[in-house]
Amino acid sequence: MSFFEIHDPVFGSYVMGNAPVKQLATGFDWVEGPVWFGDAGCLLFSDIPNNRILRWTPDSGITTYRAPSNYANGHTRDREGRLVSCEHGTRRVTRTELDGSITVIADSFQGKRLNSPNDVVVKSDGSIWFSDPHYGIKTNYEGYASEQELPCNLYRVDAVSGEMTAVVTDGNCPNGLAFSPDESKLYMADTGRMFSDDPQHIRVFDVIGDGLSGGEVFHTIDPGCADGIRVDTDGNLWSSAADGVHCIAPDGRLLGKILVPELVSNICFGGRAKHELYITATTSVYRVTLNRVGAQRP
Ligand code: MG
Repeated sequence: MSFFEIHDPVFGSYVMGNAPVKQLATGFDWVEGPVWFGDAGCLLFSDIPNNRILRWTPDSGITTYRAPSNYANGHTRDREGRLVSCEHGTRRVTRTELDGSITVIADSFQGKRLNSPNDVVVKSDGSIWFSDPHYGIKTNYEGYASEQELPCNLYRVDAVSGEMTAVVTDGNCPNGLAFSPDESKLYMADTGRMFSDDPQHIRVFDVIGDGLSGGEVFHTIDPGCADGIRVDTDGNLWSSAADGVHCIAPDGRLLGKILVPELVSNICFGGRAKHELYITATTSVYRVTLNRVGAQRP
């Protein structure tokens, strides 16, 4: 059995035929938001329904990083290496300072509460970009069922002024985010309203100053939809899907798949050379070593 499905010959050079898709840990309910801390040699990820952030290391396996986590979902690190987290339960985005204290980055817009921030990226200028779909307030499974006060927007928070702007307001349910390596483009997964006919696809925007333009459909994942996305140093997009992880060329073509036996929610690059892909997939975390390097920083 192969762990890979090759759709374009170049994908054969991105993977190694003898590198397994290895299950590192299992027994969770819905894992999301993987983020690699190379300085600590660990992976953090959310187990959302169980209201906790977990830590995995090669030597110690799984330990608890934070519980309760306010039903945290997506994470990233900012330019100073600090953890930035989306929290469903408190409907906010926070930063964990190096002394462990929590700073609230955003919890409202124009006087109304955010929905349930889902995923987040930080640009090289320190600005924080996050998606705010309603999944975490629709039921009590991944947060607290509550009234929706705002559309499902994509927001930018300025690093200096803290000013918050809605940069995408015409999405259905914005979800995973990734900048191209040169930050000239922003990819945004839109996973739509559950059990609806909403389009589910990845859109691509041109980054113009502090805003975005364009927004055409870049790629439609099949089967499933793009939840979490990451980019490698050559600008290939790696996306979660129902059957694993799909690799998409900068021109939008599917190059190949990493097959994973559970529905994948999100991914991140990590390891010594950012050459390992960590995969959160429903009840388990997997890892596969690639002949690729993640573009995410730091
Ligand atoms: Mg997500």
